[in-house]
Amino acid sequence: MIRIGQGYDVHRLVDDRELWICGLKIPHTHGLLGHSDADVAIHALCDALLGALALGDIGKLFPDSDPRYKGIDSKILLGHVMHLIREQGYEIVNCDITICAEAPKFRPYIDDMRTTLARVMGTDQHNISVKATTTEKLGFTGRKEGISAMAVCLLNKS
Ligand code: MG
Repeated sequence: MIRIGQGYDVHRLVDDRELWICGLKIPHTHGLLGHSDADVAIHALCDALLGALALGDIGKLFPDSDPRYKGIDSKILLGHVMHLIREQGYEIVNCDITICAEAPKFRPYIDDMRTTLARVMGTDQHNISVKATTTEKLGFTGRKEGISAMAVCLLNKS
């Protein structure tokens, strides 16, 4: 039993927030705005995992109207999503995340991001891919108005 899921998320960049991506705090002039820590990559990943098992989406599970999730570390949300996945008897085969941002450069952080996500998800770093790209200065990501992220995952019933 193999299931595939995909997720997409966008958050706005503002100048008075920390930048959290894939569970890491990244030094930058701007950060992402959101009810939680606004970790756009983890949100896309959560939606991919939930989508694979048709369990809804992150907005349904953790509504931004709920004060319990204000400023929450998205790694906690990811841990909760993984619990739901395992409750259904599924395990991670692999996940692949793409971050779209004009700045900063994420390459120095990619390995730490993979290690961090793998630890939270209880899987091997080998199963988690994180990539970053620009949009060649085009669109809202190119204008540094926001950051988007896409994720796909494959799950296997163990
Ligand atoms: Mg989000």
